[in-house]
Amino acid sequence: MELEGVSKIYPGEPPLAVLRDVRLQVWPGEMLAIIGPSGSGKSTLLHVMGTLERASRGTIRLGGHDVTRMGDGQLSRLRARSIGFVFQQFFMLEEASALDNVATALLYQGVGPAQRRARASDALARVGLGHRLWHRPSKLSGGERQRVAIARALVGEPAIILADEPTGNLDSATGRTIIALLRELNREGATIAVVTHDLQVAATSPRQIEILDGEVVRDTAA
Ligand code: ADP
Ligand code: MG
Repeated sequence: MELEGVSKIYPGEPPLAVLRDVRLQVWPGEMLAIIGPSGSGKSTLLHVMGTLERASRGTIRLGGHDVTRMGDGQLSRLRARSIGFVFQQFFMLEEASALDNVATALLYQGVGPAQRRARASDALARVGLGHRLWHRPSKLSGGERQRVAIARALVGEPAIILADEPTGNLDSATGRTIIALLRELNREGATIAVVTHDLQVAATSPRQIEILDGEVVRDTAA
């Protein structure tokens, strides 16, 4: 993943530059933590990296393809294939089982229903929830809900997992188990970027990127 001169500017009087001239290269198999104060542009950076939001300026390449030139349809196919997202607020379908919350992530990949459930079951086993397939999210603890969200992010076997404050709604012990799980997935080969304002979480990450007012002010890999 390569970002070159990436800026995100919201129109207004005056315009608001939320990302300024960001340059970043992420190699397959890396794990990086993105830190910075509230409002510094961490979520915007993650959304732009994951093509959920478009950059105002600059170039973004994923696996060598310039995503800034792709149309919306092409982008959503790329996202479905290559990127898994995990958010602080979990975003579960409350009426569906853990299994179906995960299986739904494969709906747009041309995978049949039986295969979707089989793969969802495997993904839930991988995050330690093989015994919770039929529970609804409301019957799960916060840590378990975030594990379901991680299973949903990884069920399509994306190359990249982007997590935005995945421990933000969890107590610190549960948060640590979620970070340990992400590290384990990273050891198994996933490229992972985690936004966090937990400095302890950041400290255990092999690479740290710090953002201040939309600028990358520190990159331990640079
Ligand atoms: P962080 O995740 O580091 O807290 P964000 O990326 O969410 O920061 O936001 C960075 C800045 O961009 C904030 O000042 C926020 O208010 C502003 N911002 C985010 N989204 C929009 C938007 N759609 N329109 C205008 N300003 C926005
Ligand atoms: Mg944020």
